Amino acid sequence: MKGNFPIDKWNGVQTPFYFYDMALLKKTLEAIKKETEQYGFCQHYAIKANANPRILQEIASYGFGADCVSGGEVQAALDAGFPADKIVFAGVGKADWEINLALKADIFCFNVESIPELHIINELAAAQNKTARVEFRVNPNVDAHTHAKITTGLSENKFGINLSQIAGVLKEAQSLANIEVVGLHFHIGSQITDMSAFKDLCIKANELQSDLEAQGFTFANMNFGGGLGIDYHHPNHINIPDFANYFAVFNQLVERREGQALHFELGRAVVGQCGSLISRVLYVKEGEVKKFAILDAGFTELIRPAMYDAYHRIENLSSNLAEQTYDVVGPICESSDVFGKDVPLNEVRRGDLIALRSAGAYGEVMSSMYNLRQLPKAYFSDSIE
Ligand SMILES: *Cc1c(COP(=O)(O)O)cnc(C)c1O
Repeated sequence: MKGNFPIDKWNGVQTPFYFYDMALLKKTLEAIKKETEQYGFCQHYAIKANANPRILQEIASYGFGADCVSGGEVQAALDAGFPADKIVFAGVGKADWEINLALKADIFCFNVESIPELHIINELAAAQNKTARVEFRVNPNVDAHTHAKITTGLSENKFGINLSQIAGVLKEAQSLANIEVVGLHFHIGSQITDMSAFKDLCIKANELQSDLEAQGFTFANMNFGGGLGIDYHHPNHINIPDFANYFAVFNQLVERREGQALHFELGRAVVGQCGSLISRVLYVKEGEVKKFAILDAGFTELIRPAMYDAYHRIENLSSNLAEQTYDVVGPICESSDVFGKDVPLNEVRRGDLIALRSAGAYGEVMSSMYNLRQLPKAYFSDSIE
């Protein structure tokens, strides 16, 4: 089974480009809204997964907040209509101008990752005559059981403050006049499909919270980050992640205090399935042992296979001929510019349209101009081009 694409509209449209199924995005957003509302949870969409303005506006229109990791993202969130008081700002290396921009906008909070950063935020807030709300990002030493390059919650990772140091950091924060601590923050990794990692996180968070309460610290907010994975193998059958199951884990396991708000920062699970990279076949090359389908898209448009060994389902939209096996590659002058090896595809000819599925997250937003290529355009299922 293949996805349903308006390929007859694409004669003469320059490839490669991104195509977004806006009906699927809306269905996904409705599913998240339903599950978060029943528990009173707050979802902040992780802008870094896809910062296309049209996508951001759609997500903002559902009333969600935004999770940003740069000043550019804070600005993009504001521009798209996310309310400042629902914007959180994380990252191990926030520059002064980025902190100033966020202070000026009065964002909900900074997710702080070190003591030196805390001091700079305090200084910059004082200079603006403001109080900065902060959550501390805790490194809970939980293994997300995902790819090493997208694991963030182990002690060896650069992210967050280690469990043994968090009480000291909270004490330090109390001594700073322009800092108000509003919560704790966790984010253990991405593309997590095994709920046991999230269960471990809940248990660690409970222990930490009890421990810190015994020392006199309380928290209005607990933020559990994002990380819920999508099914890259079945974009046509399982195109909406199991949000019910995900949020139920936190509802059941987190020992939520009276009046305490639980926050989440899903990115990939929100936008991953609604986007596809559409490309044309330039050449079919018969090697000695392999047949190559050479596309006009490369890792400049979709870097996930090269960077994370990621799998994307590949479909030939133009052919119903018998399947053959191809290595599907791009034109970039790097051996890593391979989308898939031994991929079964309906027999491929020059000019065929090829869809790389589940590319809505960490796709368009990571594209680059390496080899002086042009950045890809984006088209949307609900607008006539
Ligand atoms: C990347 C990131 C997220 C989103 O992760 P997904 O796996 O896309 O859900 C959430 N919070 C923080 C702090 C992040 O860095």
